[in-house]
Amino acid sequence: MTSKVLDTFLNENITDLKKRGLYNEIDSVQGANGAMITIDGKKSINLSSNNYLGLTTDDRLKKVAKDAIDSYGVGAGAVRTINGTLDIHIDLEKKLAAFKGTEAAISYQSGFNCNMAAISAVMDKNDAILSDELNHASIIDGCRLSKAKIIRVNHSDMDDLRQKAKEAVESGQYNKVMVITDGVFSMDGDVAKLPEIVDIAEEFDLITYVDDAHGSGVLGKGAGTVKHFGLQDKVDMQMGTLSKAIGVIGGYVAGKENLIDWLKVRSRPFLFSTAVSPADAISSTKAIELLMESTDLNEKLWKNSNYLKEGLKELGFDIGNSETPITPVIIGDEKETQKFSKRLYEEGVYAKAIVFPTVPRGTGRVRNMPTAEHTKGMLDEAIASYEKIGKEMGFI
Ligand SMILES: *Cc1c(COP(=O)(O)O)cnc(C)c1O
Repeated sequence: MTSKVLDTFLNENITDLKKRGLYNEIDSVQGANGAMITIDGKKSINLSSNNYLGLTTDDRLKKVAKDAIDSYGVGAGAVRTINGTLDIHIDLEKKLAAFKGTEAAISYQSGFNCNMAAISAVMDKNDAILSDELNHASIIDGCRLSKAKIIRVNHSDMDDLRQKAKEAVESGQYNKVMVITDGVFSMDGDVAKLPEIVDIAEEFDLITYVDDAHGSGVLGKGAGTVKHFGLQDKVDMQMGTLSKAIGVIGGYVAGKENLIDWLKVRSRPFLFSTAVSPADAISSTKAIELLMESTDLNEKLWKNSNYLKEGLKELGFDIGNSETPITPVIIGDEKETQKFSKRLYEEGVYAKAIVFPTVPRGTGRVRNMPTAEHTKGMLDEAIASYEKIGKEMGFI
């Protein structure tokens, strides 16, 4: 017999979430997650992926992935410290270091697990972490796992950061103090104030950690937020994902040689979990090569996102203060936001409603993620749907 306690717990809580409209039903996508997607047989313009550069379906990546399977098989075969470090994992790390302008890099199985790995390998219960209140869930969990004191900092508030850094350091209670931030904040598309953060870090000797999941491939002509500000020599730990703009799967940290050496012996997901498959490693390496060779895809991404933003703004929508391709259309009320997104879907535009508790109450928005792969025709169609529904619902 299985546990009654568990059954009761699950049934009660799922029912409760459903009653409160907080139970997320997940759509199943048939075929590729490209500029167009098919859900339940219905084809839509896809404005919901993180596939910024369209690389998930790029023929050059598919080709090297297929060759990798022929040469290496489908799996790495073991944890990397046993005998699962393939030459192609090392190639990927060398490429990542070159891409980020650092001495070295280490790759992980995902961005999420990278934050779990790297923060807790460096910080412990005698340390403190200054963490922006809008940081990603994986940063929050990574910080918790480290057992360091977590000090929440008001979003991008440099006076608050400075004050709290000063207090933490002057208290003499902590061995090390880290400041950790998203490079690009994924709900509003705003960019971390890295030049000021680095100045404060230098003043108080803070360790700097930037999670650039939404910045790599996007800012700094593709190289990321740190490069965008020219701060490669001033950020200790540059973390990123291979699953957004890079189009594949995996995570990494780039930094100095001694940092990477330490992570290889102390970060637990590296030590106790098998590495990404050969096809993943090779296609990620290829994607980075493409980004280093040419900025064409990056330019196309910015051209498309500027076009979409202009179109929505001209219609009179509130598109917030995004500095990146992430384009929220702020509706406000949670139910109205959900209705707007549903209507868009009926019109053939797939853009998700993002509401409380993911964003503050009353700031519900439909979030649009244009990519390099969208055509002008697709964006025009999306803008026309926004116009139709905006008028229908009385927002414009
Ligand atoms: C998506 C994301 C991650 C997780 O990356 P995955 O590779 O998908 O696990 C980590 N941090 C931030 C800021 C993200 O947006």
